[in-house]
Amino acid sequence: MVKMYYDNDASLDSLQGKTIAVIGYGSQGHGQAQNLRDSGLKVIIGLRKGKSWDTAVADGFEVYSVAEAVQKADFIQILLPDERQAQVYNDEIAPNLTEGKTLSFSHGFNIHFGQIVPPSNVDVMLVAPKGPGHLVRRVYTEGGGVPGLFAIHQDATGKARDIALAYANGIGATRAGVLETSFKEETETDLFGEQAVLCGGASELVKAGFDTLVEAGYQPEIAYFECLHELKLIVDLMYEAGISGMRYSISDTAQYGDHMIGRRIITDETRKEMKKVLKEIQEGEFARNWILENQANRPVFNAMAKNDENHQIEQVGRELRKMMTWINKK
Ligand code: NDP
Ligand code: MG
Ligand code: MG
Repeated sequence: MVKMYYDNDASLDSLQGKTIAVIGYGSQGHGQAQNLRDSGLKVIIGLRKGKSWDTAVADGFEVYSVAEAVQKADFIQILLPDERQAQVYNDEIAPNLTEGKTLSFSHGFNIHFGQIVPPSNVDVMLVAPKGPGHLVRRVYTEGGGVPGLFAIHQDATGKARDIALAYANGIGATRAGVLETSFKEETETDLFGEQAVLCGGASELVKAGFDTLVEAGYQPEIAYFECLHELKLIVDLMYEAGISGMRYSISDTAQYGDHMIGRRIITDETRKEMKKVLKEIQEGEFARNWILENQANRPVFNAMAKNDENHQIEQVGRELRKMMTWINKK
């Protein structure tokens, strides 16, 4: 098995007495910044004026412009949207990135695809929790951690690994386990995972199941519970005990259906398409399309998001969730 790093392998010392600038205070930014602060490290936030700025101030942080935060910091964690990072880097970060500082990311996209090219006299790394930012925070407050990855792109100081592990400890990732990767591996697997399985694959599977039942005349509310709501309960079981553990909890009838029918849904053709999707990621085709889509102000992204917001499963779900107050609270 690969080497896993836990709290005992990851001393906080390299970041003790240093200033960490978290750039961005969205999903990952708020989670990582608050965990680092609770781990006893000094954290400041770099932002533009706006919604996140006000939230970060309300959460008790010192907030500065991106340029100022980079000037004050030893360690700079870039948690801006991937498609904005190159511009903010060129305008505000690069001019203030002096020798010996650390430039760090939670996704390798901009370094791997050559959108950001840092000078050779700084450490460049990534520390990426493998989970959404709100869970990064919630799980930490419950005493746990979201597992993570780290990678070193440039080791100018000779201390990059120790620094990366200290940061991983600070955000709570070494409580769950952290493993070493490369920018290439992290970027390609992260994009593939979200496209084929976690986001693209899962949401199309849910919609296809829902549509099939509704078109056959079943009540949309039943289709919603069956294909969307219950998915969380099944995934929770997989998360706790793997696929076999999930199968232990379901009925034998459900398990027989699982064995017999699953492969008729995810067919050889689907697996072939997954390989194609992976190749497009590896060859930079997806990255190019996403970069150009942003330069054109996102016409495809906006149109597709709007279409899906009006899908019947969303309309039915909005109504049903109103009564599930324990979900609405979050
Ligand atoms: P969000 O969209 O949630 O947050 C982005 C933050 O950047 C906001 O605080 C926003 O502030 C700020 N921002 C945007 N533009 C600018 C600008 N021009 N100048 C200053 N601040 C700006 O991003 P995520 O947390 O989702 O993603 C951050 C990084 O983490 C990405 O690299 C992503 O790939 C990675 N990642 C994300 C995960 C997730 O759970 N979402 C999981 C693992 C990795 P404002 O309110 O002003 O817009
Ligand atoms: Mg991602
Ligand atoms: Mg991901």
